[in-house]
Amino acid sequence: MSNNQEQQGVQPEVGRRSARRVIDPRLRNDVLALLLFVGVGTLLSVKFALATHLQVLLEQHASIAWLEGASFLIVLLLGSLGFLVRRLYVLQSRMASVAAQPVVEIVQEAVVHDAVTDLPGRQVWKRRLEQELSRGVREGRQVAVIALDLDRFKQVNDVFGQDVGDALLRVMADRLIGVVRDMDTLLRMGADEFLIIQPGLDNHEGAVSLAKRLIASTVNPMQVGEHRIPMSISIGIVISSPDCRDCEKLLQRANVALDRAKIAGGSVYRFYEAEMDLQLQLRQRMEQDLRAAIDKGSLALHYQPLFNVTDQRLLGFEALLRWQHADHGFVSPADFIPLAEETGLIMGIGEWVLEQACKDALCWAGDRKIAVNLSPIQFRDPELPSKIAAIIKRTGLPPERLELEITEGVLIEDADTALAMLVELKALGVRISMDDFGTGYSSLSYLKRFPFDKIKIDRSFVSQLVVGSEDAAIVRAILAMGHSLGMIATAEGVESAEQFDYLQLEGCDEAQGFLLGRPMPFEYALALCSVPDGQIESVVRPLAAAHLPRLVANGR
Ligand code: C2E
Ligand code: MG
Ligand code: MG
Repeated sequence: MSNNQEQQGVQPEVGRRSARRVIDPRLRNDVLALLLFVGVGTLLSVKFALATHLQVLLEQHASIAWLEGASFLIVLLLGSLGFLVRRLYVLQSRMASVAAQPVVEIVQEAVVHDAVTDLPGRQVWKRRLEQELSRGVREGRQVAVIALDLDRFKQVNDVFGQDVGDALLRVMADRLIGVVRDMDTLLRMGADEFLIIQPGLDNHEGAVSLAKRLIASTVNPMQVGEHRIPMSISIGIVISSPDCRDCEKLLQRANVALDRAKIAGGSVYRFYEAEMDLQLQLRQRMEQDLRAAIDKGSLALHYQPLFNVTDQRLLGFEALLRWQHADHGFVSPADFIPLAEETGLIMGIGEWVLEQACKDALCWAGDRKIAVNLSPIQFRDPELPSKIAAIIKRTGLPPERLELEITEGVLIEDADTALAMLVELKALGVRISMDDFGTGYSSLSYLKRFPFDKIKIDRSFVSQLVVGSEDAAIVRAILAMGHSLGMIATAEGVESAEQFDYLQLEGCDEAQGFLLGRPMPFEYALALCSVPDGQIESVVRPLAAAHLPRLVANGR
C-alpha cells in the first residue's frame, strides 16, 4: 500500500482493480495459530523420538525411553485437543454474533464487495471518487468517470438463464481488469453496469484511449461454458471540471452519456454534453409512450403487397408495424424498433406481430404469403422455433405461407448458432428471406451456407436504378447469384415504371414498392385480395394512394 493510500485509508481489496475476495483476518489468525501449534508439536515429537531411538541403541533402556516418548505425545495430543475445543467455541460464538448482526449491516458488507465478479461494489464508488477528486485538485489533474454497460445483456439472461449471465459478467470483469491501469478503480455498480474512475488526467485523451481499449477488449465473443456469446459494451464518459466536482452529478452525467452511446447502437463511447439531458428526457418519454401504446393496443400492422414481376400477380404481403402516436402521428418502425430492442419490449411486440399477421393472412383468399420481419433479438431466442410452431398451430396458417425476414446482422454475430436456428425454423415448413440484402456485410459465403428461400434486394440499389448505372450492375449481379443458388429475388422500394421495367428485363422474380402499393391497413389488403389478377393494376394505385400515412421520422 502506498503512503498516499495509507493516508487516505484506502484498502487495496476495496478500492483497486486487483481487488479479490477478502478473508476474515480473525479467522485467518486462528488457522495460522493452529497450524503453528501443530507444526511445532510435530517437530518436537519427531526430534524427541529420534533422540530416544538413539538412546535405545546406545544404552538399551528401551522401556524407559518409550514411556517418556509416549507420555510426551499424550501431553501434546491433550494440548492440541484443548486448543481445538477453544477455537471451535470461539468460531461458534462468532457465527452466533453474525446471525445477530442487523440485516442492513450484512447487506452493506455484501455491497462493498460484489460476490459475482469479485470487484468492489456500488457502496465504494463515492468514497473512491471523492478521494480521487481531492487528489486531482491538489495535483491539478482531472478525473474521468466512465459508466459502462453491457449491450443487450438482458437477452443473455432471458435466453441462457441467470447462471450463464453471472458467468458472463465474470468473464467481462476479467477483460476489463486486463485493460485498466493499477491506479484506476473498476467497480460493479449492479446488474450489467460497471464504473471506472480514471484519475491523473491532463486532458480528454487518456479517457478516449481507455474507452477505445475497453471496447476493443470485447471484440471476441465471450466463452461461457459451452456458449460463445458475442457481447459488446457501451461507454459514457464525463471529465471532472472546476465547476463540477459533485460525485452524484458526475455519475448522473456519465450515465446520460452512456444512454447516448446506447442509442447510437452500442459498442461506442460518448462524452457528456450539456444538451444531452434534454434528449434523454425525450427518449425516456418515448419509452413510456411505447409501453403505454403496447398496453392500450395502439400498435397496428399495415400490409405492403408483393407482386410477381412477370405477370403482376399479387403474391402476398409484408407485415409492417405502425405506431399511431397521439402527438406525433405515425411513428416509423425504423425509429421505435431500436428502442423496443434495447428495452427488451421487442420480444412481446414480435410475438404479437407474428400472431396477428398469421391471423390476418388466413382471411385472404388463395394461398397468398405473409412476410414478417424478425428482430435479431428475437432470432437469438432459442425458444423462437417453438413459439412460432405454437402460433402456427393456434392460428392454423399453413406454415409454407409464412415467410420470416431476417437481416444479415444476425449471421455475422454468431454464424454457427444462426445456422442452427435457420435449420430449426426451416424444419417447421416456413420460408426464410434475407432482407435488405447488400446493406450490411454481404458475403457470398452466407448465401452459400444458409438455407434462404429468398433474397430481398435493398431499396438503396433500386432507387437509383437506371440502365448502365453502377446500381444496375449490382442488381444484375445479385439476381444472377441468387438464381444460381436457387433463391427467389425480390426488389424492394420500386417507385418508378423505369425501375420496374429494368427489373423485368433482368429477370427479377418479385417486386414491392410505392409504385405497386404502399403499406396499407388490413381492410385495404383484404379488398385487394378479392380483385381479379387482371384488374389489379387499375385498382392498386388508387387504393394505395388513398392511404398515405405520414411517417414522422423520414417523411415516407
Ligand atoms: P423493411 O423490412 O425493409 O421494410 C420495407 C420498408 O421500406 C418499409 O418501411 C416500407 O414502408 C418501405 N418501403 C417500401 N416500399 C418503398 C418505396 O417504394 N419507397 C420507399 N421510400 N420506402 C418503401 P417501414 O414500414 O418504415 O419499416 C422500416 C423497417 O422497420 C422495415 O424495413 C423493418 O426492418 C422494420 N420493421 C417494420 N415492421 C417490423 C416488425 O414488425 N418487426 C421488426 N422486427 N421490424 C419491423
Ligand atoms: Mg422486411
Ligand atoms: Mg427490407
